[in-house]
Parts: sequence; C-alpha cells; structure tokens
Amino acid sequence: MPIRLLPPDVADKIAAGEVVERPASVVKELLENSIDAGATDIRIEIRDGGRRLIRVADNGGGIPDDQVTLAFARHATSKLSIVEDLDHIATLGFRGEALASIAAVSQVTLLTRPRDQAMGQFLSLEGGQIRRQEGRGGPAGTVLTVENLFYNVPARLKFLRQPQTETGHIHTAVSHYALAHPTIRFHLTADGRVLFQSTGNGKLLDVLIALYGLEMAEQMLEIQPPAEHGAPEASALEASVTVRGFVGVPALHRATRSHIVLFCNHRWIQDRSLAHAVAQAYHTLLPVGRHPVAVVLLELPAGEVDVNVHP
Ligand code: ADP
Ligand code: MG
Repeated sequence: MPIRLLPPDVADKIAAGEVVERPASVVKELLENSIDAGATDIRIEIRDGGRRLIRVADNGGGIPDDQVTLAFARHATSKLSIVEDLDHIATLGFRGEALASIAAVSQVTLLTRPRDQAMGQFLSLEGGQIRRQEGRGGPAGTVLTVENLFYNVPARLKFLRQPQTETGHIHTAVSHYALAHPTIRFHLTADGRVLFQSTGNGKLLDVLIALYGLEMAEQMLEIQPPAEHGAPEASALEASVTVRGFVGVPALHRATRSHIVLFCNHRWIQDRSLAHAVAQAYHTLLPVGRHPVAVVLLELPAGEVDVNVHP
C-alpha cells in the first residue's frame, strides 16, 4: 500500500484509543476540565458502569459561545499557547485532546454557559460529528454528557469489565480528585445511588472521613511540617518541596500498596520509589508483607515537574 495520510475520523478514533481506555478515563478527563474551569461543585452521574452514561456537571467558567465547537477539535486548548508554557503548567489539561477523543467514540452532549452570558449553548455530537447546535438557557457552568461509550468501536466494548468493576474504577478516580482538591465539592451517583460525596469545606480530613469512614480516618495522623524549614544540608530544591497529608497508625495496615495514595502538585501519581519511601518510614512497625495507609501530597515548583511523563 502507498503511504497515505489517515482521514481525520480514522485518526481521531486511533487517538481516542490512547486517551479513552475505559469509562474511568472519560471521568478523569471531564473532572480535570471542570477543575481547570475553576468549579467548586462537581456532580458526576454514571449508569451501567459508565458505559451507558457519564454526566459531569460543574459550576465552573463555562465555554464562550464562539469556542464551543472548537473545544471538540483535536489539539484545541485554552490552556497553552507557546511551547515554553509546557515548562510551567498550572492546569491539569493542556493537550487539547480529551474532548475530541471522547467525542470520537461516543455520543456527547454539551450544555454550557459562562456566568456573564445570558444564554448558553447546547451542542450534540455523534462519533465526533456535530449533529445539533443551538442557544439554550441553563445554569452557569458546564454539563457534559457522554452516552453509549464505544458504540462505534465494538472491539473496545469487549474489553470493558462488569459494570461494577468499571464503577469501582470511577469511584477510585473521583476519590483521588476529591483528596487532591478538598475545597471542591464532589458528588458521585451510580445508577441513582450516591456512592461518594465530599463537602468541599477545604479539610482533607473530612474527605478522608467521606472516603474511608470515621473509624478509619480517626486512625490517621496528619503529617506535621518540619519544625525548622530547610535543614542546613537541604538543597534549594528540597527546601522548596512541601509534604502534606495523613498517614495511618501502624495498626492500620493493608494487604496491598494501593492504600498509599500519592499526589504531586494536585495530580495523582503512581511512583514505586515514593510509595516505598512511605512504607520505609514505618520501618519495622508493620507486620511483614503488610502495607500502610497514607495520603501524601507533595508540592514542588511547577518547573521541576514534567507533566508529560505518564503518571
Ligand atoms: P485540554 O483540557 O487539554 O485543554 P480538552 O479537550 O479536555 O483539552 O478541552 C478542550 C477545551 O475545552 C479546554 O481547553 C477548555 O477551554 C474547554 N473546556 C472543556 N471542558 C470544560 C469545562 N467543564 N468548563 C469550561 N471549559 C471547558
Ligand atoms: Mg482536558
């Protein structure tokens, strides 16, 4: 076969395969967009493990009229304009790929209204193609609904697990964002049942209580800042790193490492050596083969973090 450029719809579907692995990846992208839009209240509704429906409603900045269709174009972002911006990214998103990818493999509707606009916009797409667009009233903020995920990619559908497994992944994703953003109120329902809600009162401990229950949260200790910031031997970088969070008492141990939850600059990260460092801090206090419970939030200068590295 001769070399040919792929038609855009084929390219979109291929790219979608990278961004959208499962319903929880859609939820992750939509939550990041809501957080980036400055939302303080985010409601997530899913049906059938997210396969039939994922709806994320926020009270963030909304999308201005003239940009609504652009939001679904590949490499369209309001968060990055010059390549130097890549070195100090303050938003969760920046690739401008998520909405285009999600729309390529589902049926999407968007209802959005910036606070200073009297009228909002409604847009519906199917397999990435715009089907309808009209002015419509609605609350300030954005409601993005994704229905029938992978309806046009049967091969992907086969890889989806039982709805309750996919729901579990979504629950985990939502709780990670709630832990990283205690000032935002999160509310998750699955098939009409409330699975998780945080108050958004800014207290990390209250998110832990919402997530793990009072009994377990009471067995967690807040990480105290070092008395004297920056020991003499600390490098400038070490001095600019802050560590916050809660760690479980040694009696609160678990069979796997998955209860060590780590964040770097409000992004959830998975890192073996950091998880190991947390476990090492318990030294011999934990039974052999058992792992601690910990939520640790690192903050370091944006320039020191390469957000392009996969979590
Ligand atoms: P990225 O987040 O990388 O910029 P996306 O495809 O996720 O790319 O979103 C494209 C653009 O659409 C964003 O840059 C933003 O301007 C806009 N957008 C998406 N979701 C929202 C939302 N919930 N509220 C306001 N604007 C949004
Ligand atoms: Mg995004």
